[in-house]
Amino acid sequence: MSIEIQNINKTFANYTALKDINLSIKTGELVALLGPSGSGKTTLLRIIAGLEHADSGTILLSGADTTNIPVRRRQVGFVFQHYALFRHLTVFDNIAFGLTVRDRGRRPSRAEIAEKVHGLLKLIQLPDLAKRYPGQLSGGQRQRVALARALAIDPRVLLLDEPFGALDAKVRKDLRRWVRQLHDELHITTVFVTHDQEEALEISDRVVVMNNAVIEQIGTPQEVYDHPSTPFVCQFLGNVNAVPSEYFRGDGVGFVRPHDIEISRAPNGTTIESIIKYQNAAGPIARLELGLNGSGQTIAVELPRDRFDALALRQGEKVFLKFREVKEFSETGS
Ligand code: ADP
Ligand code: MG
Repeated sequence: MSIEIQNINKTFANYTALKDINLSIKTGELVALLGPSGSGKTTLLRIIAGLEHADSGTILLSGADTTNIPVRRRQVGFVFQHYALFRHLTVFDNIAFGLTVRDRGRRPSRAEIAEKVHGLLKLIQLPDLAKRYPGQLSGGQRQRVALARALAIDPRVLLLDEPFGALDAKVRKDLRRWVRQLHDELHITTVFVTHDQEEALEISDRVVVMNNAVIEQIGTPQEVYDHPSTPFVCQFLGNVNAVPSEYFRGDGVGFVRPHDIEISRAPNGTTIESIIKYQNAAGPIARLELGLNGSGQTIAVELPRDRFDALALRQGEKVFLKFREVKEFSETGS
């Protein structure tokens, strides 16, 4: 099911949470809403779901205006970061919940519900945990059960609001790959909210970068990473160094990513003198902090481990930098 978001505005008291939001999501697409806390992601998700009303604007699901369609008729599945499961219900009953609360006419039989739940338990790779209670599951297992519960109603749209936000890094990484695979199997139109740029870039077909109630940029992960259209997007997607104005020609601002900097021992025409303040080579990438001569500014650099080892740099040593790629923005931000 496609989602058309047209001219959506939303304010809370005097606070603007969403300002003229426009976005088209194609059937079967997985879109990430990425932005810092408070940028309006959850508000937009709740408006799509019908849990919140926009002040103005329209949401079309499969081309049909949803303004007067109640939440329970929208066939939308949700997963939230917290409190996703009913603690007093078993895993089985949690997953079955959306089916058991249906009106008589639309409710499947007990046998049909059981078949559906067992199918979903297999899908989330927890076939043996039907009788457990949420308190007897790990955080990652709980969120998989929450996803199964959302899928039980055969949603036409899946809305995931920071579903892995409370889990530790390793589990989060495993789960996001798993969600991506699941999406490739099921092709349910999905909106995935996150403030984690790595997660958004890895999981989605397209990323929608939000900031201060507006959409800053929409594009594939590679487009937004390689060609950020605003300074905000550039800074939010991965680490950057602000480039001092004397090192590039434009009259706006410039940024260079830590891995777009070369280090050498000898100067050549375009290199920039600096001192190694700190270096750490734990892992495949060595991270360095360099002090620029004069300005006192610190520049972060990342080098592949073999390059770092070959250079055999020492703390306090003077080296020369070259910025391979500077992303420049005019003062107005584009
Ligand atoms: P995000 O999910 O990106 O962190 P939200 O959509 O939750 O952002 O919130 C956007 C802004 O709107 C925040 O500043 C938040 O405080 C405000 N906000 C959200 N919901 C309400 C509400 N029910 N009442 C008042 N302000 C709200
Ligand atoms: Mg939120």
